[in-house]
Amino acid sequence: MKNYARQIDHFDEINAETAIGKKYGKDYRSDKGTTQSQIDRYHPLHINFMVADIIEETEFVKTFRLVAQDGYLPPFQAGQYINVYGEVNGVRSSRPYSMSSSPLQRAYYDISVARITDGFFSDFMLDQVKKGDTLKSSGPSGNFYHNPLFHKKASVFIAGGSGITPFMSMIREICDNARKRDITLLYGNRTPKNILFHEELINLASRHANFTYIPVISEPGEDYDGEKGFIDDACITRNVKSIEACTFYICGPQAMYEFCVPELENMGIPRKRLRKEMFSTSGTITKEQGWPGELTGEETVSVSVKGFKTISAKTGETLLTSLERAGIIVPANCRCGECSICRVKLISGKVFQPSDVRLRFSDTQFGWVHSCKCYPLEDLEILI
Ligand SMILES: Cc1cc2nc3c(=O)[nH]c(=O)nc-3n(C[C@H](O)[C@H](O)[C@H](O)COP(=O)(O)OP(=O)(O)OC[C@H]3O[C@@H](n4cnc5c(N)ncnc54)[C@H](O)[C@@H]3O)c2cc1C
Repeated sequence: MKNYARQIDHFDEINAETAIGKKYGKDYRSDKGTTQSQIDRYHPLHINFMVADIIEETEFVKTFRLVAQDGYLPPFQAGQYINVYGEVNGVRSSRPYSMSSSPLQRAYYDISVARITDGFFSDFMLDQVKKGDTLKSSGPSGNFYHNPLFHKKASVFIAGGSGITPFMSMIREICDNARKRDITLLYGNRTPKNILFHEELINLASRHANFTYIPVISEPGEDYDGEKGFIDDACITRNVKSIEACTFYICGPQAMYEFCVPELENMGIPRKRLRKEMFSTSGTITKEQGWPGELTGEETVSVSVKGFKTISAKTGETLLTSLERAGIIVPANCRCGECSICRVKLISGKVFQPSDVRLRFSDTQFGWVHSCKCYPLEDLEILI
């Protein structure tokens, strides 16, 4: 073995240098783990929070002010979210919430949670979480942020309801930092009392010439004299100065996205100048294009998790929800078909996947599906 090693060029010199290094030099084995601990600081898998405050924003929305239990919060890009974990009625689940606070301060993260009809996790947040409680989440994630390399300097933010949260973080950052970016916010709500952060937005717009705030109300009272109706091409043309120079960002419910995207496309805005974050789906998967008409969404099928157990699932509920209901924890993050953390391998059986799921090419090739956005159409066998 020794003779064989000597045949390597410069073996003796390297050996001699190693001996000197051992005597006088630095032993790099003592650095083991330092790179990983830096990475963990910037991109932690989990954050443990204490709920420092709960602010009632409107009748339907509360802001949770979260401070880190160990005193340190990682940096994030305005527009990103954390996935908050919780146990609701015995089911361990999670939901993503965008930070609404500015990333320029990291004493706390604010998340603002809206009540929805037939809510599950949102009801837990709004009705059960109290000041002083502890919460756990993922680290900050997501791609819904301004990227100066690819996006225009001028931005049009189109928000609906609680979809204001990532924009609030971006607006606070730009205004706090006097960044030279022009922003027009078109903020759609049903009535004026649903508007979130209204006073602050008015105040910021009055102090920053580069920020324009236009609330758009779809069910205004008789004496309302602001923008009325939906955010359509006429409303955008009326309020945005040079449409060609802007990147458009949309955040809100699926219905808003379905209405606004065709309006923008008709105005000639190319897809590359359109960024979106969808907070909720229409709720009725059976109405999605491509759903097999013979299924009502109420059928029960069985899902065999290879090497584990067999559970029952409903055709109209996502695979991830059915697994969580059965006590099986699948790592998940965005829960909207983008990040692919919750993917599982489909060994047999058929699932329905809505068209907006972003599957990697290799995942489609090898049978992986995003469990947060796929619905079992028949008995399945899967591998987690
Ligand atoms: C990137 C991103 C950022 C977001 N940011 C925000 C934000 O800033 N503010 C905000 O308000 N919202 C935000 N959302 C939406 C948020 O994540 C939740 O979808 C929303 O709070 C509603 O949650 P929910 O559980 O009440 O309802 P849903 O997410 O619609 O879940 C209801 C579903 O839960 C399941 N379920 C019901 N009962 C049970 C049970 N007993 N056991 C197991 N499962 C059950 C059923 O499948 C039911 O359909 C964001 C979403 C995304 C994707």
